[in-house]
Amino acid sequence: MWALAWEVRRRGESDGLDCWTCERTALGACRFCGRGTCREHAKTHPFLIDVFRGNKHQTLRALVVEDALHCGVCRPRGEPVDLPALE
Ligand SMILES: [Zn+2]
Ligand SMILES: [Zn+2]
Repeated sequence: MWALAWEVRRRGESDGLDCWTCERTALGACRFCGRGTCREHAKTHPFLIDVFRGNKHQTLRALVVEDALHCGVCRPRGEPVDLPALE
């Protein structure tokens, strides 16, 4: 089941991509910078998918993936960044 998921991901996102670190075939692309990464060198990092306003409180909320694929090379910001006003 996991193997299948990886296979689908390989075809979709990382066709012909090699790991940035060891140059073996990559399993996926870094969510942050697009570098390829193999299973051995893949790391995870929280990734902000979307920001939206809650229905009840009208506060800005962030939708985050806790374990997005990270190449371990680039340095995504660990802290949420203040967004300029969207209105
Ligand atoms: Zn590697
Ligand atoms: Zn990266």
